Amino acid sequence: MKSSIECDLEDLEPAVAAWERKAQSEGLRCRACAMKIPFGNRDVYFRTGMCGHCAHEAQKS
Ligand SMILES: [Zn+2]
Repeated sequence: MKSSIECDLEDLEPAVAAWERKAQSEGLRCRACAMKIPFGNRDVYFRTGMCGHCAHEAQKS
């Protein structure tokens, strides 16, 4: 059984690689923990300037 998540990941790979390069060259980092922003946290990053973890923590308090 091939999961849909696996398929999605294969499709996503070029986009993830492009994001990694962009994050690297533009120095996109979380303003709270300075972690490199993962592909999946792009939306959160553009909204908050933070990685998903820090944005979540910030929201809690
Ligand atoms: Zn962070």
